[in-house]
Amino acid sequence: MSDVSMIIGGERRAARSTFGVVNPATGEVHAQAPDCTAEQLDEAFDAAAKAFVGWRADEDARRAALAAAADRLTAAADRIGPVLTAEQGKPLKSAKREAFGASHWLKYFAQLEIPREVIQDDARARVEVVRRPVGVVAAITPWNFPIMLATWKIAPALLAGNTMVLKPSPFTPRSTLLMAEILSEVFPSGVLNVVSGGDELGRWMTSHPTPRKISFTGSTATGRHIAAAAAPDLKRLTLELGGNDPAILLDDVDPAAIVEKLFRGAFDNSGQVCSAIKRVYVPEALHDQVVDALAARAAAARVGDGMDPDTELGPVQNRPQYERVGELVADALAGGATAVTGGAPVGGPGYFFQPTVITGAVEGTRLVDEEQFGPVLPILPYRDVDEVVARANATSFGLSGSVWSADPERAGAVAERLECGTAWVNAHVALGPQQPFGGTKWSGLGVENGPWGLAGYTDLQVQYRARG
Ligand code: NAD
Repeated sequence: MSDVSMIIGGERRAARSTFGVVNPATGEVHAQAPDCTAEQLDEAFDAAAKAFVGWRADEDARRAALAAAADRLTAAADRIGPVLTAEQGKPLKSAKREAFGASHWLKYFAQLEIPREVIQDDARARVEVVRRPVGVVAAITPWNFPIMLATWKIAPALLAGNTMVLKPSPFTPRSTLLMAEILSEVFPSGVLNVVSGGDELGRWMTSHPTPRKISFTGSTATGRHIAAAAAPDLKRLTLELGGNDPAILLDDVDPAAIVEKLFRGAFDNSGQVCSAIKRVYVPEALHDQVVDALAARAAAARVGDGMDPDTELGPVQNRPQYERVGELVADALAGGATAVTGGAPVGGPGYFFQPTVITGAVEGTRLVDEEQFGPVLPILPYRDVDEVVARANATSFGLSGSVWSADPERAGAVAERLECGTAWVNAHVALGPQQPFGGTKWSGLGVENGPWGLAGYTDLQVQYRARG
């Protein structure tokens, strides 16, 4: 039995069977979630297609519903928080903050203008370019920020007049199902349907004839499958994929002044952030100082069950990811790198990994070249700026990056040379609903957030009225 339900056509729906959801702090199944059948998925897409007709017609009603959804989420943060912590592992205050953040996103989109542009208005014609909803959207989300990343899709898609069927990750379905139940009180039935199940359910969604668009956040490997699945039907796509973000420190930084920001940029959410710092490049002269400062900060981090109010870093979210992090560290150490702090699992139940700072790993090492997505950070020395820019860009990823300096102008000039979707100066993972977020190369296709993200949920229509 699952105490959380799917929402299909505005109704709470159980499934014939359920699957277990593990609490990563214990490694044990702590609850169940419904396993959506193919017939129920059909029903969800039917409900979304029916609801589209009325939903697209009333922009004011859409804005009012999104604003109400924002209020409901804020009010429900205390309910959502513990459910999110139990399945995701993050500290309870971060889980609640995620609900508040999601609410902030909904509020932003409730007020965002849907552009209409007059591009010609003369004796021959009045020509206007308008944005129309694409129809039903299939949305698929990962396990690192289930609530936040779901609203990054729900808010713009629904504002534009689309309806949606959303599937959370099978590792973290319950918080999204709870959110859907809460939001079902403000959206007309069929506008937002949320189903849960494994990767197979995701494949059914992407090959289903009803959705006109797939919006996906997850790994690059899955992104490729989804792009292939979308191709035969020419479904529209937004793909928010993995990253291997560099942080470049210039030679005028004061390590003590930036260590906390660097630590948070790399280790928040136990490193399971698509745009976390995943490689730090440091001038040779500052290398030891930066390593000492970061290692001391990482060693002091309080790792534990997210329900413990003292916990700063929770466990790695799931067993495969926990094993992968261990493998990448072991591979680096076998190749001659050093764990200045950490370097191994914490031991005991749950998927806890020691916050780890690695030196002596070079490009060509998996930990440097691949996305570790865990509480492990390699620090690499460099000689000159041209060299470090080339090394930072020598990756198939291009999500984001940062440059750190006492002189923001100087850092800005280097940041402009990074091949990525967001280039920060003296910050990392600084996001907002107004900023388009997306990646170059293997990090994605299209962007989320801001008017640019909204545009991704629309098709352009030219309205041409001849005169005379
Ligand atoms: P994942 O790709 O394994 O799974 C994501 C979702 O896709 C899940 O809901 C899963 O059930 C579903 N899925 C799996 N195979 C599918 C298929 N063939 N067809 C359709 N759906 C399928 O990713 P994950 O491990 O849950 O998330 C971690 C990854 O997500 C990391 O690489 C991280 O960088 C990335 N991420 C990116 C962003 C971003 O905005 N760029 C944000 C967060 C996470």
